[in-house]
Amino acid sequence: MAYKKDTICVQGGYRPKSGESRIPPVVQSTTFFYEKTQDMADLFDLKADGYFYTRLANPTVAAFEGKVAELEGGVAGIGCASGMAATTLMAFTLCGAGDNIVSSSAIYGGTFNLFAVTLPKLGVETRFFDPDAPAGEIEKLVDGRTKLIFGETVANPAIKILDFEKIAGIARKHGVLFAVDNTLATPVLCRPFEWGANLVIHSTSKYIDGHAAALGGMIVDGGNFAFKGNARYPAFNEPDESYHGLVYADLPAAQFATKCRAQMMRDMGAMMSPQNAFLSWLGCDTLALRMERHSSNAKRVAAFLAAHPKIDWVWHASLPENKYHKLAERYLPDGQGGMLSFGIRGDVKQAARFMEGLKLITQETHVADVRSCVLHPASTTHRQLTKAELEEAGVPENLVRLSVGIEAPEDIIADLEQALAKV
Ligand code: PLP
Repeated sequence: MAYKKDTICVQGGYRPKSGESRIPPVVQSTTFFYEKTQDMADLFDLKADGYFYTRLANPTVAAFEGKVAELEGGVAGIGCASGMAATTLMAFTLCGAGDNIVSSSAIYGGTFNLFAVTLPKLGVETRFFDPDAPAGEIEKLVDGRTKLIFGETVANPAIKILDFEKIAGIARKHGVLFAVDNTLATPVLCRPFEWGANLVIHSTSKYIDGHAAALGGMIVDGGNFAFKGNARYPAFNEPDESYHGLVYADLPAAQFATKCRAQMMRDMGAMMSPQNAFLSWLGCDTLALRMERHSSNAKRVAAFLAAHPKIDWVWHASLPENKYHKLAERYLPDGQGGMLSFGIRGDVKQAARFMEGLKLITQETHVADVRSCVLHPASTTHRQLTKAELEEAGVPENLVRLSVGIEAPEDIIADLEQALAKV
């Protein structure tokens, strides 16, 4: 029986057998014991399921992987040390020198940097597109060496909503894998596999953990991409000599996840720690409840700010006048999440005065946990970008990013009001 998301948040990923602990134990061990050499050989050959070394798999991490994969409706999850580790592993699993990624330019600053600066040093090019551009224009960027089309459901910090069907249509037409960073929507508000995505990435450090307690990342394999016979992906169709000649496209399921774990996690070692998996698993229990409150609080805060004379503009898709309102009605009908951005009238100094005047809401690099916080991206997360790149990423210099928490909405609004009075 397929359970609803609220139920999976609480019950997913771990079912104890009689006499076992009700929640997953923290299996704080690097390695696992076997009596028979053959048992271990079968694990290495992927003929059996089990654990032999925590860099590749661990029972606590597996419980968390199972919960997020189930929530997304995918076939397998891979717990990573951070969201950036997940995105990096995804890129390495698909791309080699000479290949390219076609990516929305409205993405998290760290991901932008990975794609625009770090991967090109290894011979992987990224071609950025404006997510609002017509399909025909975006499609021109795809060529025979494109391995991945990438976007964010709710772009951080531009709060743009991805037009899934437009991008999925291009990906399907060209037989290219479509991956989505679903961090700021979470599977509670949007499930990208239902709209044509093939892979989902999460920084679980955000809403999924929800308490600013554990760094983590997740790759979820949708199991819905045809690698077999697709000439674009020779690495999936030819024997992997580093893994006993395995042909990943011949596997019955989870072809991407298997290659990613067996090859890339083995070589790069960016695994999630059991302790972080435990904390994230626990945090995820309340994800559905929290996303409801984050969304309703942000909707009230957005309406308050939009009506305030000292505010230039507000971006949150709950606002009827917002450019992405229609897309949000389609892809995020149950709430648009707690992230919003706005511009203070005046210059950067006014923005700083406002932020320093806040008493309840704190200045942090983090977003998307239970406590409200603010950030000025141009001087922090996006400071490595030039002014032109900031514009391209949709992050004006006077933009303040507000992550609305689950406190009483009246208290959040009162804090904003008193800080705006100081501007
Ligand atoms: N993706 C998005 C949308 C993010 O907001 C972030 C971090 O802020 C990341 C990825 C990177 O995740 P992490 O900080 O866990 O490496």
